[in-house]
Amino acid sequence: MAPRDYTLEARRRRAPAKKRIEPIIERLAAEHPDAAIALSFASDVELLVAVMLSAQTTDANVNGVTERLFRKYHRPEDYLAVPIEQLEQDVYAAGFYRQKARSIQGSMRMLVEDYEGRVPRTISELVRLPGVARKTANVVASELGEAQGIVVDTHVRRLAQRLALTREQDPVKIERDLIKLVPRESWRLFPHLLIWHGRRVCDARRPACERCVVADLCPSSRA
Ligand code: SF4
Repeated sequence: MAPRDYTLEARRRRAPAKKRIEPIIERLAAEHPDAAIALSFASDVELLVAVMLSAQTTDANVNGVTERLFRKYHRPEDYLAVPIEQLEQDVYAAGFYRQKARSIQGSMRMLVEDYEGRVPRTISELVRLPGVARKTANVVASELGEAQGIVVDTHVRRLAQRLALTREQDPVKIERDLIKLVPRESWRLFPHLLIWHGRRVCDARRPACERCVVADLCPSSRA
């Protein structure tokens, strides 16, 4: 099924996106001071593994899995020291466990062989790791303080469309539009702001425009 087009909701006239973007960021940052990645991790390797496990499941579910997993596996070598069946069992509750276990072992092998056991910082290096696509690489690089793009998930896509920051449907093109608009120093924070605002206020089915701090800047406002 094609993803819903939220750009159709952006009908009201508002100032150009370039003029609205800074107040949008400021107000959302004030409204959601706790906006941050919801995955638990204590090291670069744990971050990479948690983000890899988060595909097609909730952050809360991943945190339940990694609470046990990270007590057992610390370094990349630890993931290579067990048979794949054991790792599959340890990540089973994250779903797609066969594929995820294979990707984690493959990535850990590459970290050991090519990166002295460390997680690389650039998107071009991160996407070389087995099972790491651009979105995962973007999240990891951003959290390591090296944002090289803007993460586009389902919330970011919906809010960017409703706020008329893009007319695109494809995440890669949406990211391209956002990169042109959002100041570089906000690339890491911006997706978290949209994600938290999407969860708390701008719901997919029932956006609560009457209590939205950017309603006067949003062409889709029903308030
Ligand atoms: S909740 Fe806010 S951002 Fe979402 S459609 Fe309504 S006014 Fe726009």
